[in-house]
Amino acid sequence: MSNPKKDIRALSKEELRRFFEAHGDKAFRGNQVYEWLWNKAAKTFDNMTNLSKATREMLENNFVINHIAVDKMQRSIDGTIKNAIKLHDNLIVESVMIPSKNRTTACVSSQVGCSLDCNFCATAKLKRMRNLNADEIYDQVVEIDKQSKLYHNHRLSNIVFMGMGEPLLNYKNVISAIEKITSPEGLGMASKRITLSTVGIPKMIMKMADEQVKFNLAVSLHSAIDEVRSKLMPINDKNNLASLLESLQYWYEKTQRRITFEYVVFKNHNDRQVDINALIDYCKKIPSKVNLITYNTIGEEEFQTADKQVIQKYVKHLEQNGIVVNIRRSRGDDIDAACGQLANKMED
Ligand code: SAH
Repeated sequence: MSNPKKDIRALSKEELRRFFEAHGDKAFRGNQVYEWLWNKAAKTFDNMTNLSKATREMLENNFVINHIAVDKMQRSIDGTIKNAIKLHDNLIVESVMIPSKNRTTACVSSQVGCSLDCNFCATAKLKRMRNLNADEIYDQVVEIDKQSKLYHNHRLSNIVFMGMGEPLLNYKNVISAIEKITSPEGLGMASKRITLSTVGIPKMIMKMADEQVKFNLAVSLHSAIDEVRSKLMPINDKNNLASLLESLQYWYEKTQRRITFEYVVFKNHNDRQVDINALIDYCKKIPSKVNLITYNTIGEEEFQTADKQVIQKYVKHLEQNGIVVNIRRSRGDDIDAACGQLANKMED
């Protein structure tokens, strides 16, 4: 069912101010409503208690608030929570809350499904349905902030754009959501606590560098050999490692912030010494660190996590070459909430 009323959160603060002026009210009313919509995350106009009844009705007649709803929630034995989020048009995306000792990380989605065909990723099996709007991304963060307070007594501390979708293919809305997340009129979180993860689209990385964005950049590398990377991630055919590197060097020049490479070590794909050497050579060309991710199975025979010894070998050689490396512990894999397992498979 299509709704003719406009989503009020598609309006900027300035547009809201002008709307009120055009309706014979004070522009300042726009600021009040903006604060309700973003900072207080109001879900209905009736919640906006400092507005007159007439104003609330007027808003009701003109707009909707397309808020998300947590449709289902699953908790892992390690405390990780996976949410199935229902959007206003009944499509579903997933978000994950990952608690650790002193912090909570929100892993949020940027698209419904994904248009890229990374062969090892469960989300890739869902075709891309649509981009998420800025408010739909923002709402995922608000919900996880609430869950963090409820279950862990502290606020959300970090955000990673590592859920469903490719954030750089929904650039405008992702940037607009981040603006709201970091603004004191929104959640007031620090940009340095936000990480955007991408398959690596050079054109967009350069655009972000030009715009001097303040958040961190992670790139899903998985191989530093074109032939191998193209097999894992077909996007590498058109955006090869050399062009990716060029864009990352540009990013570093402009931002002075080092990049994180995400790297899954797969059995029989990138577990040879030549793979390790290629990664070392690549990292030496750009200030970076490496997060080694153990592979989370998605039921495809072809992809399996490499032996522990191979991962240790990666660590040893990277460290010997002065490259910072972490092994990323996978969280929530018992409920298919771990990296690459988000595929709208919730248990009833
Ligand atoms: N499209 C963006 C955002 C998704 S982030 C990107 O690709 O970076 C999800 C991360 O998990 C990526 O690094 C992705 O390569 C990795 N991933 C995908 N499937 C995985 C799996 N089954 N096991 C472990 N990591 C996986």
